[in-house]
Amino acid sequence: MKAQKKPAGKTDKKYDVVIVGGGLAGLSLACLLGRHDITVGCIDQADPKTKPKDLRTTAISYGSRKVLERAGVWNHIQDACPIKDIQILDGRSSVLLEFLSEQADEKDFGWIVDNHDLKTAMAAQLKTLKNVTHIAPMGVTGFEVEEDSGFVKLSDGSAVEARLIVGADGRSSFVRGFMEEQYGMRTRQWSYHQRAVICMTEHEHPHNYAAVEHFWPEGPFAILPFTDDSKGVHRSAVVFTEHGPEKTSLMKMSDEEFELALAARFPEHYGDVKLSGTRAAYPLNLVHAEKYTAPRMVLVADAAHGIHPIAGQGLNLGFRDLDCLDQLIEQALRTGEDIASSAILKTYEQKRRPDNMAMVAMTDGLNRLFSNASPTVSLLRKVGLKMVSRINPAKRFFMRQAMGDR
Ligand SMILES: Cc1cc2nc3c(=O)[nH]c(=O)nc-3n(C[C@H](O)[C@H](O)[C@H](O)COP(=O)(O)OP(=O)(O)OC[C@H]3O[C@@H](n4cnc5c(N)ncnc54)[C@H](O)[C@@H]3O)c2cc1C
Repeated sequence: MKAQKKPAGKTDKKYDVVIVGGGLAGLSLACLLGRHDITVGCIDQADPKTKPKDLRTTAISYGSRKVLERAGVWNHIQDACPIKDIQILDGRSSVLLEFLSEQADEKDFGWIVDNHDLKTAMAAQLKTLKNVTHIAPMGVTGFEVEEDSGFVKLSDGSAVEARLIVGADGRSSFVRGFMEEQYGMRTRQWSYHQRAVICMTEHEHPHNYAAVEHFWPEGPFAILPFTDDSKGVHRSAVVFTEHGPEKTSLMKMSDEEFELALAARFPEHYGDVKLSGTRAAYPLNLVHAEKYTAPRMVLVADAAHGIHPIAGQGLNLGFRDLDCLDQLIEQALRTGEDIASSAILKTYEQKRRPDNMAMVAMTDGLNRLFSNASPTVSLLRKVGLKMVSRINPAKRFFMRQAMGDR
């Protein structure tokens, strides 16, 4: 083997895989890869002890649950609320499209899980894996890539060596930025000029495990069923999508005004609705890298593709990347192939691009269609939804998409 030229600073650690980013994708990948006979380092710039709690919930699809089970994470999750019914409403009209789990072999459509609980479950599983090191807080300042190895330079002046470097560092990925600069790779991106305002609510009557997506002229409004609290209080998570200047944002309202806005949008059968805890806002944009791989490097999840949350599929799509990469690495380990060979990276790119492209296009299209107040577009939407509800194969297609069961 050729002698390695080490970057400035000491290279005191060597891993098979270094994952840059310890968010939900990076930690899940660390848990998946930790099942194999390889060493894994997962680096995150944020301090897990002081990082503010992620107040969002995630709709985990049937397919993603299988990935989390394989990663050994699912069993550590405290609260997962099943989705048994999906209702789609448009403006003031009644339910336009309804998917019932009884039409899907009694399978739940997915589960709503609190992001903080999910992350805690991943951290608990990581503790059981001796071959995985969670390095945080630690910034990443650069990379050097050689034929047989890559080097990740760290903010404390040291560096770590890896056979494969995975960028799981989110929408503003530093790894993707390096790939753009070094290899002239490009990224398609634009802002939706929208924000998602999220919160947890408490309501008088049970949600009956229904997820509601209600398309209002000002943007989609989602109600996601969550588990009752320890006192039996009924809860649902809410995602409001809004556009317009920040000064008119729902974030600027008092809690009382915000609760009135909630009450105006919740269907009556929920009874009285109250805000539980605080709100948070996320600016919405689209990011899609034109290439996911470079020598010894690969992008996964939001670092490769950050999409609109309109269908609650961003992380689910990311889990499909992780599943694919995990299977390719497992196969390489079985055959003695280099886990970052150009053939492996090419296969990953070929397998993941069409699926990701389709979801990028679908969520972008849905947002254009459903965030449009024009009467003609509104009529088209209603006709489209009615058609889907009456054509069984179309309905089954959308149910499969929602479940992520491929
Ligand atoms: C309002 C909203 C609702 C959503 N709901 C759903 C849903 O219901 N279902 C679903 O599937 N998806 C949903 N999503 C999408 C989902 O939240 C994202 O796809 C997911 O969080 C992406 O995870 P990630 O780990 O790829 O990126 P991130 O969560 O962004 O994590 C990136 C990590 O990398 C670290 N990092 C960044 N730069 C560096 C660096 N230079 N060095 C070291 N570390 C670094 C960060 O500290 C962070 O921990 C939603 C998104 C939004 C905004």
